[in-house]
Amino acid sequence: MNRKIIIWSIIAFAGIVALLLIAVGIFFVIRPVRPPNVLIITMDTTRADRIGCYGYDKILTPNIDSVAKDGVLFEEAFSVQPVTLPSHASIFTGKYPFHNGVRDNNIYRLADDNLTLAEILMQNDYLTTAFLASYILHNRFGLHQGFNFYNDRFINPRQKGRLPVERRASEVSFLASEWLDAVKDELDKRPFFLWLHYYDPHAGYDPPHPYKTAYPDPYDGEIAYMDDWIGYFFDELKQRGLWEDTIVVLVADHGESLGQYKENSHGIFIYRPTVRVPLIIRYPKTLPRGIRLKERVTTVDIMPTLLELLDINVDEKFDGTSLLPLIKGEEKQPDRAIYSEAFIPRGFNWSELKGIRKGEWFFIEAPHPELYHIGKSDPASENLIEKQPETAGTMRNRLLTMLADTDLSKVEYVVADEEMVQRLQALGYFVGGGEHAANDEEGGPHPDPKDKIGLFNVYQRASSLIAREIYEPGALILENIVEQDPNNQRFRMELGNTYVKLEKYQEAEKHFKHILSLNAEDPRSHYLLGLCYENWGKPDMALKEYREAVALNPDHFLAHFHRGMIHIESGRWDAAERAFNDARRLNPRNPMALNNLGYIAIKGRKAFEEGIGMILEALENAPENPTVLGSLGSAYANAGNYEKAAKYLNAALALVPDDRRFIKVLKEVYGATGEQEKLSKLEVREKIIEK
Ligand SMILES: [Zn+2]
Repeated sequence: MNRKIIIWSIIAFAGIVALLLIAVGIFFVIRPVRPPNVLIITMDTTRADRIGCYGYDKILTPNIDSVAKDGVLFEEAFSVQPVTLPSHASIFTGKYPFHNGVRDNNIYRLADDNLTLAEILMQNDYLTTAFLASYILHNRFGLHQGFNFYNDRFINPRQKGRLPVERRASEVSFLASEWLDAVKDELDKRPFFLWLHYYDPHAGYDPPHPYKTAYPDPYDGEIAYMDDWIGYFFDELKQRGLWEDTIVVLVADHGESLGQYKENSHGIFIYRPTVRVPLIIRYPKTLPRGIRLKERVTTVDIMPTLLELLDINVDEKFDGTSLLPLIKGEEKQPDRAIYSEAFIPRGFNWSELKGIRKGEWFFIEAPHPELYHIGKSDPASENLIEKQPETAGTMRNRLLTMLADTDLSKVEYVVADEEMVQRLQALGYFVGGGEHAANDEEGGPHPDPKDKIGLFNVYQRASSLIAREIYEPGALILENIVEQDPNNQRFRMELGNTYVKLEKYQEAEKHFKHILSLNAEDPRSHYLLGLCYENWGKPDMALKEYREAVALNPDHFLAHFHRGMIHIESGRWDAAERAFNDARRLNPRNPMALNNLGYIAIKGRKAFEEGIGMILEALENAPENPTVLGSLGSAYANAGNYEKAAKYLNAALALVPDDRRFIKVLKEVYGATGEQEKLSKLEVREKIIEK
């Protein structure tokens, strides 16, 4: 029976019931059926073959398994990208990256003119909420579109001295449960769409006890730990009577290579270990229980499937297709090509990879293209590109036809600021500056990542040392790989940055200049060379480089910002104000740009009220930023408002008790108000800090 006939039968049946009820004299209001809740759980870096219900017997994942037992499990689901942001962007737009514009972490932002699942559900009166576990999915990268509430604030740093950039599964599940209580009244009236993101299985693998000791492989430990906390949230739903009315989707954004194909983690290749993902959908009210489908599907199918399940029609062309007919056994999945790509290699001046899996074949377009006979599973073993030229040609044409439809209008880059760079570095990501590493359309031959994976692994080792501030050995390793791949700008940039950290400025300068000799028009390298000079104590040379950077890229937030800092140091207030206004144009709510503009208004123009207004605006955007709190206190002290000055300076010192600048100003405040006791306490603190 097709859907239309089912619907008409239901209407006809309802009509008969209504007539009968009227006949016996019962009157009541027919309430519309409430649509189900939707819960999407994305498990970062989780390989399907490391989960119990996917046949792995060395782990306990009872909660994921229970969803599979009552739901539909896809044996052969493939992610579009082996990287977090683009993979999620594809899940939530139902589109491939060449249509939604997001192709790598950190660089791209999901453009507003994309239609997201959350936007559609919000329009359909859903309460839409997300809890994220990694800064990689921060709202600045655009996935927050359509969410009433998008919780991407990380308060508790996982490691000492690091910016908070991720959270544990326990925190995600606790927060989500608290949210259920907070919106209880709302949920009586309308359904929810909730997205929970769990980041634990991502490297470095460091599960808490008892998972750490229970599992010889810490990666397994992280997955088992995550499963436990997913189960905690399931129980919370059950206790509130929400479980049976909730469609549950479990999926991973990508897998993990764990050394296969010489790749340690994920991002460079599109072989099975990093793009095959678990995908389970549970909703026993409509869907069959405990079935396993072997047909190959892709994560861009999730959105059209959910929309059909919810009976929501939208005028949008998806790359994915609804899996409902397949689930219900109404039709066989057409033998379509399933697309995956990797763009991280472009950041290293290597070629990107684009591939399709279709039928028994897997083709990868690369400088050395690959063709594998993958049969039912797909261990990519023998490259048949030479032996099967005809099949290779057909597959390539198929891929090119797909890509001919590429829509560059959706490509949007993020504007990096200081905070973003620091947070990404704390997660172990390298960020060179405010713009994309490689233009999508940039031509020219690039090396094949297959030939560079060895170097990449060495680079990762160096990066992880540098992320832990072990600079000297990190630099040694980088020196070695720069020698082997002299034109790799990414390697050189990281080496230059490391030398800046080591205060070996001459060495740093040499590497940045080398990159500029390869590409004089690279704004990032001008900016980084500027930073090198600024740290070296050569402000004029730094300023020259920052000017070059903004001439080449007027949207370079960081270069504008640092230009402004140098002008402030030299008391050139007008020039400083111009630079920070340029920065503010790019990032109107950036607290540090607002803070500095406020400072300039007070110091340069004695415009106290205006300056305080700006710093207050900065505080609104960063209520827990000690620098902003302290500078607001200082501003009030300057304006003679000692009560407020003391309030904000104390708030700043509560966050950083040993900041001498704030202590100094607060001492002046207490001196002016004659609060001798408080003043002596501060003097004692100052002496302790000096020791
Ligand atoms: Zn990820």
